[in-house]
Amino acid sequence: MRPTLRLGTIAGIPVGVHWSALAIMLLLGHGLATGVLPLGAPGGAPVAYWVVAVAVTVLFLGSLLAHELCHAVVARHFGVGVRRITLWLLGGVAELESEPPHARADLLVALAGPAASFGVAVVFGVLAAGVYLVGLWALAWVALAWLALVNAVLAVFNLLPGAPLDGGRVLRAAVWWWRGDRAVAQRVAAFAGMVVSLLLVLCGTLQVVYLHSVGGLWLVLLGWFLLFAAQAEQTDFQLRTAMAGLTVADAMTAPPVCGYVSQRISDFVALARQHRPADAYPVLDPDGNAAGLVTLSALARATPQQRAEQTLRDVRVPPDRLVVLAPDVPLADAARQIMAGRLPALVVVGGVLVGLVGTADLARAVDMNSLRGD
Ligand SMILES: [Zn+2]
Repeated sequence: MRPTLRLGTIAGIPVGVHWSALAIMLLLGHGLATGVLPLGAPGGAPVAYWVVAVAVTVLFLGSLLAHELCHAVVARHFGVGVRRITLWLLGGVAELESEPPHARADLLVALAGPAASFGVAVVFGVLAAGVYLVGLWALAWVALAWLALVNAVLAVFNLLPGAPLDGGRVLRAAVWWWRGDRAVAQRVAAFAGMVVSLLLVLCGTLQVVYLHSVGGLWLVLLGWFLLFAAQAEQTDFQLRTAMAGLTVADAMTAPPVCGYVSQRISDFVALARQHRPADAYPVLDPDGNAAGLVTLSALARATPQQRAEQTLRDVRVPPDRLVVLAPDVPLADAARQIMAGRLPALVVVGGVLVGLVGTADLARAVDMNSLRGD
């Protein structure tokens, strides 16, 4: 997730906010100012409710940040780099650069977030009790008590035992430790994640249908998101396992023939017909640098007149609309981009084309990788 607004760095970790977090802030602020606060501490001025609601919303985002920061700091302690922390619609994400090295690290990184949320809940709870006992401003203790409750709920919810929630990571670490097999642990956590997500969708739906509560929609949304996230995480893990140790150079293939931007289409077609057919051919500029691809279907679509009059420049797909990779990029990192692209990726060194990688090349590289032990 790319943050829309960078807030700065905390403990060397870039922290940002995605635009969707704004939706949460508005919903939350409105709910607090017009619902929770007037109910908890009636008789106040609307302006006071709004001021406290804004403060509570900011403190709530701060609590989410504390949760993610604790994941990040513990991950770094175990030598796992942290790319960034982003707050968004459904909470926060700390993006780790790699997987924790062993089951104990996996467990402690996972537990750090909920532990932080519990800690924050206790602090707000003690403050709320203090303000209440002293008999100060009722609005203040209601706001503090709400923050304590929400952080406690956040900690418990995150401990639900299914990936990608923290509880799913705890489950993964436990199975990893017990069976000594990271892959089995990942599968168990992903499956549990799908079960938890579907239960959330079911609970939300029942809440909407039987209790006519709009809050149920939130649960449905969250469940759907978690379901997709659990599946994506499983696919990602399978890709990483299958492509372990491979780079783009291991998968790329040499095109049967290349064209030039100034080459007439008919001349290139005559040349291409002498080689094995390909779905797409690289196009080079006069200096031999990569200048895009021309697809077989684009060549076929051109009329006889166009083929006689136009050059490959007119029918090529330029490099800025293609995936361009260096040969030393880990294949697992490149795979998503290649699979999302309709055309093969260009593999380029200093502007010079050295090969192409398409989805068929990925499949071949994975198969060859699994034969490596023989
Ligand atoms: Zn967490």
